[in-house]
Amino acid sequence: IIVTIGLCSVIVLIIISSFLAKRSLEPVKQSYERQKEFVADASHELRTPLTIIKSNLEVLSLKEEETIVENKKWFDNIYTETDVMAKLVQNLLTLAQMDNKQISANMQIVVLSLIVENVCKKMSVLAREKDILLQSIIADDVLVKGDQNRLEQLFVILIDNAIKYTPKGGQVKVSLMTTSDKAYISVKDTGIGIEEEDKNKIFQRFYRVDKVRSREQGGVGLGLSIAKWIIDEHKATLEIKSKLNEGSEFIIGFTSKNK
Ligand code: ADP
Repeated sequence: IIVTIGLCSVIVLIIISSFLAKRSLEPVKQSYERQKEFVADASHELRTPLTIIKSNLEVLSLKEEETIVENKKWFDNIYTETDVMAKLVQNLLTLAQMDNKQISANMQIVVLSLIVENVCKKMSVLAREKDILLQSIIADDVLVKGDQNRLEQLFVILIDNAIKYTPKGGQVKVSLMTTSDKAYISVKDTGIGIEEEDKNKIFQRFYRVDKVRSREQGGVGLGLSIAKWIIDEHKATLEIKSKLNEGSEFIIGFTSKNK
């Protein structure tokens, strides 16, 4: 009887420990799977511009005695794709640094109103090129605790998206409003809108509602995952209001440091 009980206990122990080992390995397995998926997506995204650059160079290499002006179309394609690749590599680097915790937000008291104003000025050229009216209504002297460069990067991503996903002739409105203890930045466009089911997905790496459309606009699907990291680092809130074919509004809420 003792031997049987002993044997049974050993078997039960083996079953429990193998179950526990399997469970504790689950997060590692998931993280490995995510990593594998990320590398596969990144490689795929890098291959597309490289293929286009290569084929354009092939066309050029077959031409004889023609001037640069005559071949402008091929050079332009190469230039555009090199730009896409440079942006992609820069974003990948930022995400890798975020994952490895090599960068963290450098928090100081900053003038949020000035940062937003400067980004709007910078982005107005792009808006004009697309015939989009970029308006800004910004409350004065709003202070928050934040990282100047990261906040700039966040507003560039949001305004750039608003311009990218709004058809010619549309409007993008950037507002900074305050309550007694909060500062809200709203980036509102009259663009294509986002469906309810996509609202969470758009923060995933490489997720794009319409891959072709995003690519045509020079998108690589990483902007909002970087934006989300910056929002979280600032312990800010995020709300998205959107209606398909009518427009979207991204509202970020910061704790203000005024008074
Ligand atoms: P991308 O480089 O493709 O713009 P993002 O990560 O910045 O990548 O955005 C992910 C996706 O979210 C976009 O491809 C687009 O489908 C959607 N999106 C982002 N901003 C907007 C917006 N203002 N209006 C409509 N769709 C948007």
